[in-house]
Amino acid sequence: MSHLLVSSHQTEEEAETQHESENSVWRFRGSDTAAKASSVTMRVIVYKLFDLCSPDIKKPLLPLAHGDPSVYPCYRTSIHVENAVADVLRSGKGNSYGPAAGILPARQAVADFVNRDLTNKVTPNDVYMTVGCNQGIEVLMQALAAPNANIFLPRPSYPHYEARCVYSGLEVRKYDLLPENEWEIDLQGIEAMADENTVAMVIINPNNPCGNVYSYDHLKKVAEMARKLGIMVITDEVYSQTIFGDNPFVPMGEFGSIAPVITLGGLSKGWIVPGWRIGWIALNDPKGIFKSTGVAQSIQQNLDITPDANTLVQNALPQILEKSNKEMFAKKNSILKQNVDLVCDRLEDIPCLVCTKKPESCTYLLTKLELPLMEDIEDDMDFCMKLAAEENLVLLPGVALGLKNWARITIGVEGRMLEDALERLSRFCQRHLKKTEASLQAKYNGEI
Ligand SMILES: *Cc1c(COP(=O)(O)O)cnc(C)c1O
Repeated sequence: MSHLLVSSHQTEEEAETQHESENSVWRFRGSDTAAKASSVTMRVIVYKLFDLCSPDIKKPLLPLAHGDPSVYPCYRTSIHVENAVADVLRSGKGNSYGPAAGILPARQAVADFVNRDLTNKVTPNDVYMTVGCNQGIEVLMQALAAPNANIFLPRPSYPHYEARCVYSGLEVRKYDLLPENEWEIDLQGIEAMADENTVAMVIINPNNPCGNVYSYDHLKKVAEMARKLGIMVITDEVYSQTIFGDNPFVPMGEFGSIAPVITLGGLSKGWIVPGWRIGWIALNDPKGIFKSTGVAQSIQQNLDITPDANTLVQNALPQILEKSNKEMFAKKNSILKQNVDLVCDRLEDIPCLVCTKKPESCTYLLTKLELPLMEDIEDDMDFCMKLAAEENLVLLPGVALGLKNWARITIGVEGRMLEDALERLSRFCQRHLKKTEASLQAKYNGEI
């Protein structure tokens, strides 16, 4: 965690003052092409919150703003998955370059894996290997960017989408996910926003950060809307193996014959190995629309000019995906379920924080801030800044995800960290509760 404690701003400032006098000598400058795009990511906000934490608060820092469960021993991937890579490593078969779209055995393994849940099967030719799911996002946005083109992204969302759209020059239009409707998509809003330059809509299912899983009926309506508007659906299913509620996962690809669908997936979240950087793009397009519109060709061309996914893990993919890894998924999901239950249970006693829907997937929990109940808290950013400064507890303000006056708690950590965090949250909220509310609550609790 320590690297996250270094302030990005300080380093930049230091560098600037040190080298100011020399700057006139050199003809080169860093490009600012990525400046706007990178400002959309969560990193800037998270660094700012880490800066507010202090050793003077005699409590360990609890980083619950972002998450990588793989750092905790309880979420370690299975020995089978590790052995698959170790075997390839020792065989020497993972040492060579591969084709830009990925090696055939990996593409075949992904096709077999996604076909388990699909009526219209995909072939290895419909699959492209990527450097994690994030490169899939990058490649798609580049492939779709055209003058005046716009794309629909969810609000709240996973910020990498907006960053890549900004970078590629694709106009972003945000549609709402409705908290009062179990985070379903505001389909009416979508229809109203569309015009002849809209090319695609992105959905994230299972939904990061909301933690819901869309029903068959809702996804069918999404496909029908896309068809009506003449747009494709891009579905991010990187969390398809991280489900611990009752609603079953339905792949959007099931509806590829209504409107063409591009599915993004990867090992990072399901198999808890984000450092291995393996993802994929699959085209669910039984009518061949992506070929006739040149989208498939553009994806291939973009892959031709970007780094290839590493062949070490690609070669291990048949082994990794062939086995269902049921036990590993079950263990991971049962820990996440316990954590969600724990947080929801404790939140019941904190009137300022409301969870409108218990997550049933992914590794986050969104809570609404009841600001009218609190004094001296202006908004979600203010809440998270004061929480960091007073309790050494870092949560992500909703504004980083496009959801003002909410906060996001990472549940993909160890249970004891969440117990500690919820105690600190409870004390913090008690301290900032409006006096009238505080006395009312004390009365209610029988303390007066
Ligand atoms: C983590 C995440 C990604 C990125 O996955 P990588 O394989 O690590 O690149 C993409 N989409 C969503 C919704 C994610 O949560």
